Amino acid sequence: SVIVFGSINIDLVATVPRLPIAGETLLGYNFVRVPGGKGANQAVALARLEIPTQMVGRVGTDSFASELLYNLENSGVDSSNVSIDEDETVSSGVAVITVDDKGENQIIVIPGANGRVNEEDIERLSDLLPTATALLLQLEIPIAAVVAGAKAAHQAGVKVILDPAPAQSNLPDELYPLVDIITPNEVEAGQLVGFAVDTEESAAKAAEILLQRGVKSAIVKLGAKGVVCATAEETFFVPAFPVHAVDTVAAGDAFNGGLAAGIFTGLSLHQAVIWGAAAGALAATKLGAQTSLPDKLTFDTFLKE
Ligand code: ADP
Repeated sequence: SVIVFGSINIDLVATVPRLPIAGETLLGYNFVRVPGGKGANQAVALARLEIPTQMVGRVGTDSFASELLYNLENSGVDSSNVSIDEDETVSSGVAVITVDDKGENQIIVIPGANGRVNEEDIERLSDLLPTATALLLQLEIPIAAVVAGAKAAHQAGVKVILDPAPAQSNLPDELYPLVDIITPNEVEAGQLVGFAVDTEESAAKAAEILLQRGVKSAIVKLGAKGVVCATAEETFFVPAFPVHAVDTVAAGDAFNGGLAAGIFTGLSLHQAVIWGAAAGALAATKLGAQTSLPDKLTFDTFLKE
């Protein structure tokens, strides 16, 4: 299987004519709840490609929890190792999002249960590792848990794929050597290396620095421009698939799902990166986060064209 150890969120999205000012009550147009969280998104991306996928994470005891677990199961993700935090003052992870007519937004993220992932979850993860091929990590759970998860997977010989998102300028030194593949986008790569990353050349430089810090492979995602991938042996560029992009939300999560699906299937790194780019491109052609993640039929058809 592939294991995703990370965040599970519910996005509460209100559309409004304009963003409210402090103290103001404003009439909005519409409200929707959609499942999100980078961890859950990557798990759903994998399951849509029919890869056996196990989610390890944490939700609260609120009514969102059952909705989030149902969504994972309904998408084909095994959620039996998602813990329910007994502390009733802790909510499930929530993003409160307001979007106005101009597309401007305001977002409040409450980590809630995601912020309380702990040793108990590492134990659940460790029990799954003997039968796993890869572990997907992001940075929406405590960094200590990310490091402990990477360590356990590394020791078990399970490939560690780290999406260093949301962007952070500092990761623990000990994390890099535990990582088989790191997959920053332009902003995340820029934060990690301390210079602007927006071209093939700067991406290759950034990838080189990440290799020096100890990762085995570095993949820098340059959106519609493509991907730079570096290992100790070679550096190569994979162009983006030409598509009509309408919304790139979750394109990065789709990329990581496609990449890990390729690794699970036993493809070469180069071929797995092409799978990532295909999944990312397909996600960019549709609105939404999890709603835009391609299913296996769509994915296979796209790759054959
Ligand atoms: P993130 O979503 O993390 O910001 P990117 O925007 O770089 O990351 O997108 C992730 C991947 O999705 C890209 O590397 C690329 O493969 C694919 N992708 C994103 N936007 C497009 C696009 N407009 N056309 C084709 N592929 C895209």
